[in-house]
Amino acid sequence: MEERNQTQSNEQGHRSRVIAIDGPSGAGKSSVSRTVGEKLGFLHVDSGALYRIMTWQCLRHGIDTSDEKAVAAFAGTVEVTCRPEGADLAFYVDGIRPGDELRTPEVNAHASPVATVKAVRDRVTAWLRKMPEHGDLIVEGRDITTAVFPDTPARFYLTASAEARAARRHKEEVEKGIAGGSAEEVKASLLARDQIDSTRKYAPLKKADGVIEIDSTFLTL
Ligand code: C5P
Repeated sequence: MEERNQTQSNEQGHRSRVIAIDGPSGAGKSSVSRTVGEKLGFLHVDSGALYRIMTWQCLRHGIDTSDEKAVAAFAGTVEVTCRPEGADLAFYVDGIRPGDELRTPEVNAHASPVATVKAVRDRVTAWLRKMPEHGDLIVEGRDITTAVFPDTPARFYLTASAEARAARRHKEEVEKGIAGGSAEEVKASLLARDQIDSTRKYAPLKKADGVIEIDSTFLTL
């Protein structure tokens, strides 16, 4: 029983292992997951990108993201496929792999409201739970340790001070040339998302019992 909970059978009948990492924006989840995944040979899964894809698609199709019913109905029409590419499990929508269009200030502002909608969460969770068929995974997000893979033995909560997280996000946006505002504005947007993510009704961000907590405020990668 225990073993069945800890691993998932993939298409070759092998059992895949899952490392789960949750935490707020800018805590370092992506950098850590990618680096650890490369070292261990576990594919990196960025679950936030799936919520961003839902949000980006809503915006492209003119769906009012504050209209829960409209978002829920639309969520069922979004098709995402995935395949391993290098260190990542890459996601495709209508045959294209979205990149920086998922990281715009507009998507940042709408992603958390979209992620409160149960139909959106159910669809993304179903996609995530099928992914172990591609192999061992390191999955980062907000509800991976609590709701998506709560039984995996390797569960971590990565956090950092709001100042450190905002400074990292701002630097990242400047480097990518997609900065939509000052460091202070980035901090405000990040705190607004934290607030929605940790107080929403379904699968809120929280530190689960039994996870290993790492505060990266004063740590290098
Ligand atoms: O991780 P990232 O900042 O890209 O995630 C974008 C948004 O997606 C988060 O603010 C959160 O609202 C949502 N999310 C979620 N559950 C996850 C991953 C992300 O609700 N597992």
